[in-house]
Amino acid sequence: MSDCIFCKIAAHEIPSTCAYEDDQIYAFHDLDPQAPVHVLIIPKKHIASLDEAQAGDAQLLAHMMLMVKEIAASLGLEKGYRVVINTGEDGGQTVPHLHMHLLGKRSLNWPPG
Ligand code: 5GP
Ligand code: ZN
Repeated sequence: MSDCIFCKIAAHEIPSTCAYEDDQIYAFHDLDPQAPVHVLIIPKKHIASLDEAQAGDAQLLAHMMLMVKEIAASLGLEKGYRVVINTGEDGGQTVPHLHMHLLGKRSLNWPPG
């Protein structure tokens, strides 16, 4: 999607600090980190939100989920981490391109605000 900031980041048209990349997904460090490690994992394909994902995206979504532990291990999150997908207005989603937040290297509170 031409005017989507995360599509542009995935295409390296906007600079970011890469944490992981393959042909399907891109992971990069959040500009405004909420934990010592705060990485965003996005599909290269534009999907506006989890609410917009289709059955045909199942393999892509599974790949994103299964890569989390690899990215977490590469970032030294052996004590644990949290994965968050903010979805829609009440979910606090501000960028309309599906992304998983991977947060770690501090003890995280529950419930979130
Ligand atoms: P959301 O609120 O939609 O769940 O999360 C969007 C996240 O994207 C926020 O944590 C925000 O800091 C991050 N973000 C927004 N624009 C940029 C950007 O241009 N570069 C990077 N690295 N992160 C961004
Ligand atoms: Zn996009």
